[in-house]
Amino acid sequence: MSNLEHTKWTFTLNTGAKIPAVGLGTWQSKPNEVKEAVKIALAKGYRHIDTALAYGNEAEVGEGIKESGVPREEIWVTTKLDNTWHHRVQEGIDSSLKSLGLDYVDLYLVHWPSSTDPNDKKKHLPDWDFIKTWQEMQKLPATGKVKNIGVSNFGIKNLEKLLNDPSTKIVPAVNQIELHPNNPSPKLVTYNKEKGIHCTGYSCLGSTNSPLYRDQTLLSLAEKKGKTAQQVLLLWGLQKGWSVIPKSVNKERIEKNFELDGWELTADEIKALDNLPDRFKVCGDDWLPVKVFFGDDE
Ligand code: NDP
Repeated sequence: MSNLEHTKWTFTLNTGAKIPAVGLGTWQSKPNEVKEAVKIALAKGYRHIDTALAYGNEAEVGEGIKESGVPREEIWVTTKLDNTWHHRVQEGIDSSLKSLGLDYVDLYLVHWPSSTDPNDKKKHLPDWDFIKTWQEMQKLPATGKVKNIGVSNFGIKNLEKLLNDPSTKIVPAVNQIELHPNNPSPKLVTYNKEKGIHCTGYSCLGSTNSPLYRDQTLLSLAEKKGKTAQQVLLLWGLQKGWSVIPKSVNKERIEKNFELDGWELTADEIKALDNLPDRFKVCGDDWLPVKVFFGDDE
């Protein structure tokens, strides 16, 4: 395989599993559109689908997978444990598998480091934290319901807390975090790498109404390359070493986002995107009962 066949790239996790470098995101993909999006993506060649219990669309994602005709074992499926399910991890995975209509997922992530009280989402559970959640998560690979376990939205501070706890026997395989040129998190990316944790970049296009599309450096670079701004953003992430999971429910855009082969960004072009001055974050923590981001990748 030529190393410019980016859509065939995989990243090898600390478990030995290979995660396809480009996946389809499904946050905010509405009912009646996400099944079609999954089918279009799989027909185009995507082999990685990212969903979550919190997105409320696992059932349709599962239908899309089934109707695509692509064998299950060829597809990487990621889903996530919801914040209000931290104290019932086994039930959480059972619920997701039932909705998806699958026997196993390839990757199960703790969606946020917040064990939220299901009866009052403004409260954190008094007798629980993500260390206990991880103790339960570690039991899952042996059940066969989950091939790999990981986390999401963990900054350096919470990762250190998790990795330094004596009950942590399994290092997360993946940390799914917000990554785009306006939120590049270099220290966090380096920290994950040092610990053998693969990063998947979410909101890799800057999410809904992305301010990145007004960035002249990006727009000029895309024009020079004869590519879309989105394709340039995705290749920037891949070449920096993380998997990307762009979301779209539009056929043309789903397909274009997967046309990434046969070209690459030069070191200077990557650097130009690394050095965009603006900063913005799609997902903050003000809606959670606890602070999970402590500034500057922490
Ligand atoms: P993305 O950065 O993927 O951007 C999605 C937006 O870009 C949508 O509005 C989409 O609209 C539009 N878009 C996609 N492709 C194109 C294109 N080629 N041209 C123009 N517009 C385009 O945002 P997300 O925030 O959805 O992040 C990606 C995925 O990451 C999520 O879907 C989810 O799976 C995951 N995620 C995980 C989080 C976590 O906490 N772990 C948090 C946030 C996201 P349209 O659909 O109309 O094409």
